[in-house]
Amino acid sequence: MRNYDFIAIGGGSGGVASARRAAEYGARALVVEAARLGGTCVNVGCVPKKVMWYAANLAQAMRDAPGYGFTVGSTHFDWPTLKARRDAYVLRLNGIYASMLDKAGVDVVRGFARFVDAHTIEVDGERFSAPHIVIATGGRPEVPDTPGAEFGIDSDGFFALETQPRRVAVVGAGYIAVELAGVLNALGSTVHMLVRGPHLLRPFDAMLRDELGAQMREDGVDLRFGTRVEAVTRQADGSLRVACDGGGVLEVDALVWATGRRANTDRLRLEAAGLSADARGMVATDAFQNTGVDGIYAIGDITGRAELTPVAIAAGRRLAARLFLGQKDSKLDYDTIPTVVFSHPPIGTVGLTEEEARACHEQVKVYGTRFTGMYHALTEHRPRTSMKLICAGADERIVGAHVIGEGADEMLQGFAVAVKMGARKRDFDDTIAIHPTSAEEFVTLR
Ligand SMILES: Cc1cc2nc3c(=O)[nH]c(=O)nc-3n(C[C@H](O)[C@H](O)[C@H](O)COP(=O)(O)OP(=O)(O)OC[C@H]3O[C@@H](n4cnc5c(N)ncnc54)[C@H](O)[C@@H]3O)c2cc1C
Repeated sequence: MRNYDFIAIGGGSGGVASARRAAEYGARALVVEAARLGGTCVNVGCVPKKVMWYAANLAQAMRDAPGYGFTVGSTHFDWPTLKARRDAYVLRLNGIYASMLDKAGVDVVRGFARFVDAHTIEVDGERFSAPHIVIATGGRPEVPDTPGAEFGIDSDGFFALETQPRRVAVVGAGYIAVELAGVLNALGSTVHMLVRGPHLLRPFDAMLRDELGAQMREDGVDLRFGTRVEAVTRQADGSLRVACDGGGVLEVDALVWATGRRANTDRLRLEAAGLSADARGMVATDAFQNTGVDGIYAIGDITGRAELTPVAIAAGRRLAARLFLGQKDSKLDYDTIPTVVFSHPPIGTVGLTEEEARACHEQVKVYGTRFTGMYHALTEHRPRTSMKLICAGADERIVGAHVIGEGADEMLQGFAVAVKMGARKRDFDDTIAIHPTSAEEFVTLR
């Protein structure tokens, strides 16, 4: 048995961040990782996704270039080259994570952890114990039990694709679905998006959902709402036949399921520690990341709240400060978490949707605008930018800020600070615009 002060099960965003801080505060810390260090974000999430998004933006820039007087000769995009370079980058990050942990004095054990009791885990027959154990095991894609579902791939499979599928069906309406569909479309695949409900991005403000759907359609994505996949079959030439309800049939080279994720808690033997999970594998926690068992905490995607890398990291760091720095009130405030969807065009959002604001505030005032950004004044492809500020109360406190359009991804972080600080509309009005930008519209709304 090896004894530690702190064990993080999972070497992803939350586990690594919490263990590094714990060690910095003097704890003997261990990270147990079953696969590759860095977890979902580094290996099959944010990082490879953003690389693909940059590639898609380059493809769009080449299409825009003639508007600025360039003659673009014949260009060729080689998916295998991009994949090899992306994989090499991810491998470098895996190494950086290992050396960061090493430098911080955190031990790393490779293998799959299971609970023996509330303070002990077992990895490949070896036991480790600690008074504080954080579960940070993240999630994995969940595929529906549709007949022939196994012929499709999930987001992990998307990142494993060795060649670019010419025709693709993306099933789902969440941010992963719209991001992957946008990338494939911009890189030249024919993309069908099959959405069971009536909207993309269900929890987002209606303006963002509607604009994104309209712009994806204008960009050539075959977006089908109210469509359920009934069966997938592989044909003799290797292509897939996708049968949808209502009789629609598609023939594609790949089908990507982006229909949800479930927590990696089912094989952890939670019951040995006196814990249980809900139907999606999520572990309930209080505001301090405490589970129902003393000394066991949960952070990140398995808590089912704001499944984002910076959230897992922030929760982990605050937990370490509470346990080992004596900051007994240290906890993450889950309100007003900003996020970006790397769709085409991108979305930035923070705070309440208009619908949510109207449900919880009596006096709501909404400011909005829709325009073509200056970059697109000269291009043939002319996506629009839309913005919305949602204000509540007599003093018009800004409770929501939403933007879709060129640059939205880099625009919102600063505004999120203002919203978090409780900015009023008049504070935005008092701020001098930065010209000429799209972001300036946020401070000139009337
Ligand atoms: C396609 C995609 C794109 C995304 N894009 C973004 C984005 O742009 N921005 C953003 O903020 N978030 C993004 N996310 C979400 C982000 O990746 C997650 O919110 C984040 O990784 C969660 O961190 P975590 O620590 O909870 O879990 P993870 O990072 O998933 O880490 C969990 C780790 O635990 C390991 N593990 C599991 N079980 C065990 C066990 N029993 N023993 C040992 N190890 C175990 C796993 O191998 C894994 O490495 C994206 C996710 C996906 C799938």
